[in-house]
Amino acid sequence: MSDTLALINPATEALILNQPLATAADADAAIARAATALPSWRAMAPLDRIKIMRRFADTVAQHADELGRLDTMNMGMPIGNSVWCANTAAEVLHYYAGCIDKHTGSTIPVAGGVTMTFHEPLGVVGVITPWNFPILTAAWKIGPALACGNTVVIKPSELTPLSTVRLGELALEAGLPEGVLNGVVGTGPEVGWRFVENPTVRKVGFTGSTAVGKRIMAGCADQVKRVTLELGGKSANIVFADADLEAAAASAPGAVFDNSGQDCCSRSRVLVQREAYDRFVELFIAASQQFSVGDPLLADTAMGPLVTSAHKAKVQGFLTDADVLWTGSAPTGPGYWMPCHVVASGPDTRIARDEIFGPVAVVIPFDTEADAIAMANDSVYGLSGSVWTRDANRAMRLARGIDTGTLSINSNSSVRFSTPFGGFKQSGLGRELSMEALNHYSELKTVFWAS
Ligand code: NAD
Repeated sequence: MSDTLALINPATEALILNQPLATAADADAAIARAATALPSWRAMAPLDRIKIMRRFADTVAQHADELGRLDTMNMGMPIGNSVWCANTAAEVLHYYAGCIDKHTGSTIPVAGGVTMTFHEPLGVVGVITPWNFPILTAAWKIGPALACGNTVVIKPSELTPLSTVRLGELALEAGLPEGVLNGVVGTGPEVGWRFVENPTVRKVGFTGSTAVGKRIMAGCADQVKRVTLELGGKSANIVFADADLEAAAASAPGAVFDNSGQDCCSRSRVLVQREAYDRFVELFIAASQQFSVGDPLLADTAMGPLVTSAHKAKVQGFLTDADVLWTGSAPTGPGYWMPCHVVASGPDTRIARDEIFGPVAVVIPFDTEADAIAMANDSVYGLSGSVWTRDANRAMRLARGIDTGTLSINSNSSVRFSTPFGGFKQSGLGRELSMEALNHYSELKTVFWAS
């Protein structure tokens, strides 16, 4: 260990602790521990691995309040959401425990014999997670990686390591063998980059910004190291004039302001058909006024502070010269508070194109269905999105026409652990969640048996 980093509660600006930061040598030592634990973990009988992972999942569920509290203190997520995330992390681990004896290969009749396929573990998997959903993004990778028989080194964001550190302790308490899951708290360039460089790590599962994801992909190319990248987004929430406008408007604030807009799936581009524009904006603002911003430890708080003062300054920078239609209220401080904003724009401004990662909704009018599709697709990103319409045929045309990994019709939900999740274009590479993720944490081996 070398330096320390002051972890600050973003709602109070109080010091939580001075977090020691690991070095590259610490990262290599953790990778070595994971390599030592690999042979017995991958060889363990499936039922035994299932039992251990289910105990791990149960232990996480039993500590969901504690884990949620850590994330609320560390990054300002409202307690209702952070406890939900911890419980969902437990469900994800249960889901992957249940997959262990179901991710089967196949037998293929061929001339002269038979061919079998096996899903082999990759080896040591490096996991790098962001600060905005610490416990969920960890579980999404740990679950399938362990289920496939890999061992894991995980580096949480240095800004929000507390819940992941606790997760590691809970894993040991639950009976996960020593070395199977190893946490290392450090910076990206020091610790995360060792996962890229150290050849013992056979895959990097990364969630974070597109800029860092590109660097990781380039770094992994040298060893043809496997990568899964879950990156940024600028998702469109498309509201047609024939939609249930009340329902669309009631759901729109949560779709962009949840987690203070610090959500890769945030539907921060609200595209509204011109004839419904004025009415929808009125309803959207009325619904946003109900979105309570304040103490994240209170059960009825919808939105807390932003994660750091630097991030707040970055988000505020987007509002210079913006055509602000409405600004909500927020505490003045201490804390990194920022009110919700609804902003009018055309499709070509920086505020309409860049991932802001803050509580700023940009409302943009469109005329025809073709315009809506073209506008939604005119982005380097393609992660999530929604379409609101009562026309079933139009809904299906939009569902097929929009270049995005996840799309919801008459809903703003994005993620279920039993369905695939991931990005088109610069929103990512590979898929997480569902049985699909197992294919990204294993290698397919083909064996021919002459007979
Ligand atoms: P970030 O890219 O700055 O950091 C993510 C992680 O990468 C952190 O752990 C960081 O320490 C590490 N890192 C930074 N530089 C590195 C390097 N050179 N080598 C190795 N690791 C390095 O992202 P962030 O600010 O923590 O998170 C916000 C971003 O994450 C947003 O763009 C958001 O859209 C994205 N995100 C995407 C998803 C998704 O599922 N697609 C989910 C959550 C967040």
